[in-house]
Amino acid sequence: MVFVKDGELVTPGEPICVEEEYSPGENAKLHGDGVVASLISGVVQYDRSKRIVKVKPIKQVEKVKVGDQVLLQVREVQDKIAIASIIAVNGKAVKHPKTAVILPNRGRRGTMDEYVGVGDLAVGLVVTNFMGVIGVSIWRPNLGVVYGICKKCSGPLIKAGRTLVCSRCGEKQKRKIVPYYGNLERIASMMG
Ligand SMILES: [Zn+2]
Repeated sequence: MVFVKDGELVTPGEPICVEEEYSPGENAKLHGDGVVASLISGVVQYDRSKRIVKVKPIKQVEKVKVGDQVLLQVREVQDKIAIASIIAVNGKAVKHPKTAVILPNRGRRGTMDEYVGVGDLAVGLVVTNFMGVIGVSIWRPNLGVVYGICKKCSGPLIKAGRTLVCSRCGEKQKRKIVPYYGNLERIASMMG
């Protein structure tokens, strides 16, 4: 007897079939009453030749919307833009980091490397999401780098007055920072 069709969704503990039909495979478990049940939320897959049933986990697809606040790790700094990974959205860590583009601010002169550096953690606001390209702004006062990494030696940058100084090599560097720059507790709270 089969309770669930091939390709159907099940929740944890939901009976799938009886053991005489299919043996439990990945993410399925045999119960004492001879019923095979799912261990996870996912899609049922029957392997008719091997007579095994497994449950394929559903990929959590996190949607990022315009207006979301995101925590970014900067991966690449170009002349006018930077490429970053979104590691948290609205205070919750994401399972599958997405790529975002840090957009330039027309009002500011200079190149992007005066505002962010590779490896930095930054807070941004999603301002565009078009054809899967997520555009992020860091230009408001409460947005920008929360934790900077030295471009020379990868040491952490410490706030010293109005500038940032590398705690390892002493190099002074420029960033567009948030007022609570370097507050590790606050940064951790952004990842949920
Ligand atoms: Zn350094």
